[in-house]
Amino acid sequence: MTENIKDKVVIITGASSGLGEATARMLAKKGAKLMLAARRTDRLQALAKELELNESVIVPTDVTDRKQVENLVAQTVKEYGRVDVLINNAGLMPSSMLENLHIDEWDRMIDVNIKGVLYGIAAVLPVMKAQKSGHIINVSSVAGHKVGPGGTVYAATKHAVRALSEGLRQEIKPYNIRTTIISPGAVATELINTITDTTIAANMRKTYEQAIPAESFARVVAFAISQPDEVDINEVLFRPTSQA
Ligand code: NDP
Repeated sequence: MTENIKDKVVIITGASSGLGEATARMLAKKGAKLMLAARRTDRLQALAKELELNESVIVPTDVTDRKQVENLVAQTVKEYGRVDVLINNAGLMPSSMLENLHIDEWDRMIDVNIKGVLYGIAAVLPVMKAQKSGHIINVSSVAGHKVGPGGTVYAATKHAVRALSEGLRQEIKPYNIRTTIISPGAVATELINTITDTTIAANMRKTYEQAIPAESFARVVAFAISQPDEVDINEVLFRPTSQA
């Protein structure tokens, strides 16, 4: 199903690795017009080169900086004249037990996983309202549905993503803007490299032995975007068949 993807203008945050990178590859193949955002511009440059995209589609962006996120949307409008889809994908998961007080890591998860998503929504809403069309895709997680020891703060951020996405959906219906929450289970990316707690990291590496390829996520994104405009896929929860 590529009909409703071709020529769509899609912003992907966290496009420098993992799920964002795989999504860029798949959507490029289906003819979308991409804007690639992350902090590691060398990775974005390599991706743009591989996909034969002009360097103007790379926007160095730290999603915790509101001005940089506003700039990302402004650059997209400058490049393409519109924004059809924003994929709020950037995120991190430095999991740890609360009692170990990795408070700086809690702060980073809140800043990137929650505030980064909100800044994306804030930057793109005026554009999509004026267009009377658009699609905001927010990345939650299986951890947005359940909580386990060591994953408390991460799960809290991913529960928050689901809550704010559902509120957003209800509020922006009148503007013909679609909203999708995607909640993956274990997918093979660099995500678990952000875990500094050695015990949690070892447990997580075990869980991620069953991880499925990042293309699984990209296929879900393509499925949501490619629906006819009057069909809004609100949430997709998926995981490796073997995952508890
Ligand atoms: P990766 O670590 O491979 O990718 C994370 C991406 O987020 C990178 O591109 C990174 O880019 C970007 N990022 C991190 N911090 C910032 C920041 N401050 N500003 C801009 N970009 C940032 O992990 P995934 O691809 O797995 O993660 C993508 C999303 O998927 C996250 O929201 C994660 O929580 C979610 N998720 C992943 C699952 C999995 O099993 N892989 C399961 C459930 C959800 P850079 O460092 O260059 O800025």
